[in-house]
Amino acid sequence: MNIIVAGGDGFCGWPTALYLSKQGHDVSIIDNMVRRDIDNELHSNSLTPIATLGERVAKWEELTGREIRVYEGDLTHYDFLREVLKQEKPDAFVHFAEQRSAPYSMIDREHTVYTQTNNVEGTLNVLYGIKEFVPDCHLIKLGTMGEYGTPNIPIEEGYIEIEHKGRKDVLPYPKQPGSFYHLSKVHDSHNITFACKIWGIRATDLNQGIVYGLDTDETQMDPVLTNRLDYDDVFGTALNRFIIQSAIGHDLTVYGKGGQTRGFLNIEDTVRCIEIAAENPADRGEFRVFNQFTEEFSVGELAEKVKKVAQEEGYETTISNLDNPRVEQEEHFFQAENTKLRDLGLEPHLLNDDVIREIFRTVINHKDRVIKENVMPQVSWK
Ligand code: NAD
Repeated sequence: MNIIVAGGDGFCGWPTALYLSKQGHDVSIIDNMVRRDIDNELHSNSLTPIATLGERVAKWEELTGREIRVYEGDLTHYDFLREVLKQEKPDAFVHFAEQRSAPYSMIDREHTVYTQTNNVEGTLNVLYGIKEFVPDCHLIKLGTMGEYGTPNIPIEEGYIEIEHKGRKDVLPYPKQPGSFYHLSKVHDSHNITFACKIWGIRATDLNQGIVYGLDTDETQMDPVLTNRLDYDDVFGTALNRFIIQSAIGHDLTVYGKGGQTRGFLNIEDTVRCIEIAAENPADRGEFRVFNQFTEEFSVGELAEKVKKVAQEEGYETTISNLDNPRVEQEEHFFQAENTKLRDLGLEPHLLNDDVIREIFRTVINHKDRVIKENVMPQVSWK
């Protein structure tokens, strides 16, 4: 298949592009490099040193003989996107290219507006581009489990059957997102639902959980292929952030009581889920939703797991329950369906001490790169 990976220079996109290329697909990347610019804006960095995208794809071609074409540009520039679609005529368009940090979207008015403009406008352009130039192309869009929030009933995969006043219908599952970033994903989901209905576009929304790990078989082939790894308060996500904190002797920063429960998955499962979605496309006009996570943990549980492994590795670690900078429930019911990807063949890589240990040992090699001022939370929801 010809597959475009938009956001292919990012944490999920880069290993996905390599994996799809290795599987024999003809892959190209769209990215505007804004994630690297945001590192400069926040005076932050990836824990792992990362090569330029040009160096990355050149090394991949040298090692495997496989070309990954690069289109450096912005999805919000329709003239640019249109030319790429006309050139590539993709069978699938994998859309990772959004501003993905909840704290970044909550910094101030400008960052909220940027997040929603970038994400919603970019996705609208992709929808129009597919309609106008490649109507059969399958949109594989990264959503988030955070779209659902934490309702007091089980979370279904996109849709719920409701009986009301004696009548029944299957309706989109209610969305109660917890940041302006998560709201941008909900707006995207609504726009995609509508475009599928009116234009017959085929789309899969992957409501992804929090991704941990950094390596895949492909990124480990050479240091130039190394994936980025975020640890700062704005882009670092639970588990990866805790592992890095334990490696530098910092307290593990659990926000509030730590009972916040979320879905998680290994980066090795992210790349496989994208392959599964691509190989099993949605029908024309279908807006399909998969919940893309493999296990549920509370933030407090994860901190305990990391503390145990760090101690076994000889690093004394303290868990610190900070005042919660976010507005969220800290103890709540959480139970979410995630059977559709497994029914299509996903075999999850589950989290155990050895997985944490492997990430920990990689992190130790780069711990001198950590900018310590960036570890404590600085963005407040209020
Ligand atoms: P990332 O920030 O590392 O990568 C996103 C990439 O998209 C970056 O390389 C950035 O430069 C690019 N980009 C952003 N806006 C663009 C635009 N307008 N035009 C072109 N390129 C643009 O993020 P990630 O962690 O790889 O996440 C990828 C996707 O997966 C996001 O949509 C995110 O919301 C979703 N997701 C991620 C996680 C996670 O834990 N990392 C969890 C759930 C969902």
